[in-house]
Amino acid sequence: MAFSPPPSVPEHKEKSAPQKALEKLGLLRDIDLALHLPLRYEDETRLVPIAAVRDGDTAQVEGTVRDSRVQFRPRRQLVVRMADDAGDELVLRFLHFYPSHQKALEVGRRIRVRGEARGGFFGLEMVHPAFRGVEAGTPLAAALTPVYPTSAALPQAYLRKAVASGLAHADLSDVVPAGLVPPGLPGLRESLRLLHHPAPDVSLAALEDHSHPAWRRLKFEELLAQQLSQLEARREREAQRAPRFAVQGGGLQEQLLGALPFGLTAAQRRVGEEIASDLQRDTPMHRLLQGDVGSGKTVVAALAAAIAISNGWQCALMAPTEILAEQHFRKLVHWLEPFDVGIAWLTGSRKGKGRRAMLERVASGEAGLVVGTHAVIQDEVQFAKLGLAVIDEQHRFGVQQRLALRHKLAEQALEPHLLMMSATPIPRTLAMTLFADLDISTIDELPPGRTPIVTKVFADTKRAAVLERIRDEVGQGRQVYWVCPLIEESEHLDLQNATATHQQLVEALPGRMVGLLHGRMPAAEKAAVMSLFGGGQMAVLVSTTVIEVGVDVPNASLMVIEHAERFGLSQLHQLRGRVGRGGVASVCVLLYTGPLSDTGKARLKAMAETTDGFEIARRDLEIRGPGEFLGARQSGAPLLRFADLTLDEDLVRAARQAAGRMLDEHPAAAREHVARWLGGRAEYLKA
Ligand code: ADP
Ligand code: MG
Repeated sequence: MAFSPPPSVPEHKEKSAPQKALEKLGLLRDIDLALHLPLRYEDETRLVPIAAVRDGDTAQVEGTVRDSRVQFRPRRQLVVRMADDAGDELVLRFLHFYPSHQKALEVGRRIRVRGEARGGFFGLEMVHPAFRGVEAGTPLAAALTPVYPTSAALPQAYLRKAVASGLAHADLSDVVPAGLVPPGLPGLRESLRLLHHPAPDVSLAALEDHSHPAWRRLKFEELLAQQLSQLEARREREAQRAPRFAVQGGGLQEQLLGALPFGLTAAQRRVGEEIASDLQRDTPMHRLLQGDVGSGKTVVAALAAAIAISNGWQCALMAPTEILAEQHFRKLVHWLEPFDVGIAWLTGSRKGKGRRAMLERVASGEAGLVVGTHAVIQDEVQFAKLGLAVIDEQHRFGVQQRLALRHKLAEQALEPHLLMMSATPIPRTLAMTLFADLDISTIDELPPGRTPIVTKVFADTKRAAVLERIRDEVGQGRQVYWVCPLIEESEHLDLQNATATHQQLVEALPGRMVGLLHGRMPAAEKAAVMSLFGGGQMAVLVSTTVIEVGVDVPNASLMVIEHAERFGLSQLHQLRGRVGRGGVASVCVLLYTGPLSDTGKARLKAMAETTDGFEIARRDLEIRGPGEFLGARQSGAPLLRFADLTLDEDLVRAARQAAGRMLDEHPAAAREHVARWLGGRAEYLKA
């Protein structure tokens, strides 16, 4: 195969549209191009006798033009009749054509044609086949022709040349020592050559379902890079020093435990011990506490904070929204202030004198506990001695905020311990790969006395019946959430929607307090509405998704989610978790406006069938794939492109084992491998 020179970028000149398109696809380096693998292949290695072509076949044939004419019925078109050397005929039909086509397809020309055959009115025909003029005996392609994933601005032919060039110029020598590669897998160069230009006898099925050893080699390489970067992050962290806390009998955390109105569940005690044992070591904790909505993660965090504080260190607790941060603040004040713990409150909306006073209390160490939004990790916030950072609903924070947090934590000589919390459990294979640098504790039990939530799915046309149900619920002294979607592009519209629904409920419930809450309200107003609802004076709260995470009002027993089809699965689960927090049986009504898409249907079905957050996460992963599942974490970062975490668990294991040995025995090769695969993006993967 002949390679054309790389599509070089002339300096000081505008880049061409295809060059820009290449960059947009992230195809910058030769190695990136070499790793851009075909979606499928076209077989131009064979000629098929026309007599053997069947309706629906994609085939390449060769022969001579017998007849060529422009017809005008039913519309203008070029119709060409050709025959192969055996004399069998095929009709070619072109609805768009230029004089140059007519010339190339004149009677008597020998042509090679490739396309999909259809049984037409006049026998077999191909509509708009690819064709070119040939001489008898023109050699056939030696390998299958790759078809690459591309974009509208990037012609396949241009991309083919660019990839071929990348493949020719990239350094494809094996970096991974042979002894670490699972047996039976070909080398990297050999694998890539095969995948880009497979010989005609290679099994197309094995190429297409990615089970061919060459595919497995690439998946292994990719997984290894990812494992190496995680392992490196872990080792870097383990080389850091963190304050070692003593956990004493009779200390603050025991006092707090004694003052709680409930006893811990067995699961809470177990994860509490896992965390306490991390805190007694001098390497920084890096732990994810996962537990379903309502499983009681906050109190576990408070107990960890108590350990840090009683050792003379500060604890920061960060939540993704102001409402949630404020709720944590109130709860922690209630729990910890009786024991003389100074608690500071920091959010973006807190400005001026009050803010300066808070910053002062944080800097002096007078505040043992600092609660807030991501404002807590901004540059001007200086901690006297930060010993523990707790991030609630960690998956809601963006990549930039995670990176900022890492930098903040690295500011001190002794690095703080880090506890992340999430109600969206990480499926096991993801935990083994993208989250390998994380220890995980799981609360797998809800506090006693909760009644399961019943979920019902209704078309929006049943609104009147739903209003009736609300009247009932409110009549029994219970409270109701009504959630309206908020989609950024149409924020204005959605606000109208929430306002209209609010009006409707006000009218339907005379004598009851019906509140409205949305993200554009001033913080003070939001807080006022939340406190009326939290205190029980407000019967119904109409809200956009600002209540999504963490809000805790145990007397709320009914939740209506309008336009439920617009929400993601884990978001619906989070929302639903706002009810079912007290002893009364709770109901969640999902109202949808049809027609539903297939994924919309799958989501609502999953919601109606289970309330188990782990099962929901599994189905979410199934419906959306890992890319979307990870959401903010991965924006700007590559996901696994080749490996499929549901199918390639064996390779994940192999890569995990190999990563440990490679880092120990071949550290330079390990670095080279990560650079080759992840380029400058490794940093994001650790965020
Ligand atoms: P999440 O895990 O969703 O953050 P929370 O920490 O908000 O859950 O806890 C939900 C509710 O359960 C809170 O009102 C909390 O005080 C209460 N709770 C937590 N642990 C227990 C327990 N062991 N027994 C009874 N109630 C508990
Ligand atoms: Mg919570």
